[in-house]
Amino acid sequence: MRHLTPAEFRRLGHRAVDWIASYAERVESLPVLPQREPGELLAALPERAPEEGEGTDAWDGIFRDLDQLIVPALTHWQSPNFFAYFPCNASGPGILGELLSAGLGIQGMLWATSPAATELEFRMLSWLGRLLELPDGFLEAPGGGCIQGTASEATLVAVVAARHRVRQRTGARREQLVAYASSQAHSSVVKAAMVAGLCADASGGDALRLVAVDDEYALVPEALARAIAEDRAAGRVPFFVCATVGTTSSTAVDPLPAVGQVLRESGFAESGGWLHVDAAYAGAACICPEHRRLIDGIEHADSLCFNPHKWLLTNFDCSAFWTRDRAALVDSLSVTPEYLRNRATEEGGVIDYRDWQVPLGRRFRALKLWFVLRHYGAEGLRRHIRHHVALAALFESLVRADDRFEICAPRRLALVCFRRRGSDAENRALLERVNRSGKAYLSHTALPGPDGAERLVLRLAVGAPGTGERHVRAAWDLLRE
Ligand code: PLP
Repeated sequence: MRHLTPAEFRRLGHRAVDWIASYAERVESLPVLPQREPGELLAALPERAPEEGEGTDAWDGIFRDLDQLIVPALTHWQSPNFFAYFPCNASGPGILGELLSAGLGIQGMLWATSPAATELEFRMLSWLGRLLELPDGFLEAPGGGCIQGTASEATLVAVVAARHRVRQRTGARREQLVAYASSQAHSSVVKAAMVAGLCADASGGDALRLVAVDDEYALVPEALARAIAEDRAAGRVPFFVCATVGTTSSTAVDPLPAVGQVLRESGFAESGGWLHVDAAYAGAACICPEHRRLIDGIEHADSLCFNPHKWLLTNFDCSAFWTRDRAALVDSLSVTPEYLRNRATEEGGVIDYRDWQVPLGRRFRALKLWFVLRHYGAEGLRRHIRHHVALAALFESLVRADDRFEICAPRRLALVCFRRRGSDAENRALLERVNRSGKAYLSHTALPGPDGAERLVLRLAVGAPGTGERHVRAAWDLLRE
């Protein structure tokens, strides 16, 4: 067994960086969506690991296989023609942050296991929080921020902390607890309720109420108030509300000020109830003053998350999470066996981020966020957001000008929901044709139409770092032809 020598590592590392730079140069020319059958790559890979390593001789073959086996089986999320789902931004500074994090190879579960990881992360979350103009209570004790892997984990952590807090304050039994989100909330809210043992399946049972939305797909506060009152009257204990700022299907925005008022008037907060705001996608835009109103009312929330890994040029995974009650997280998630005890923890005054999340171990993700924030600066990031919002506005105007198509939801940021006037089957066929062409990749969702019945809607989300006007126009030409 022989490790790479520093000289060999340097040589191969340069080659890997060169490879990444060439990939970025040619990604636009690759079909965005691979035309592969399930199992094709699997069949091309040996069934067992090599018994003897090939050492440095392996690397020509590794780079060849990367080109010949892996790249053709990739969906190119960084292609400027990628318009599906929400974006998952990579950037030079983000990639270098990942590389250096791997190079340092630290594990930041405790402050003591790498003080820099914890303290840089805490500072980055306060930089980011200030860009969002979050109230100080989210940035400093008794609150604070940390990086979760995904928005799903952030929601789960919030549910677990909320469950703990309400039971401490009211003595409620687990079976009495009820959580609320709009019917347009992300599926991760349902999953969090399942994982937290509130409900047995995705129906949510009596433990999760999916509250009605208005004709712009935003939660109706009066419906939330009614649901809370009905549950109270039936002896249940409302303990968690997830409001969504920027829903996955259509970027609908639940009205935080009105939700906050309902929760105040219903006594939800006094009994330990927790309001979590899921701004996984839209939160990035709130660094722009013209979009900050999307989170007006955030002072009513107990926690908030958004994903810099979606639309803020920070490589996956990086979900920014803030709470105003770090004690609820620590009390509900801390388990300390002897082997994790250390003087810094026992003396207090340090954060051990393992107590703010589900896993024990944690990567040094703050590094990439630091590089991104320093490289682009707040203004650079605002330009990135504004550029995409303007391109989406352009696409919306093209759709509106063609009466064979219709816009299906208000466009708030860089997602356009539209459809061809006609049946779901026609829209599905159109989407398949466009995606099969490899020239653009869009996704779809279902949204209730004017008659209340769900219909298939096409989603074009502008957000890949290299997308420009010609890509958006080309996607439109493809769709209308
Ligand atoms: N919440 C919303 C509103 C989302 O749009 C998404 C994903 O698109 C998620 C949560 C889940 O994000 P993650 O993959 O980070 O768990």
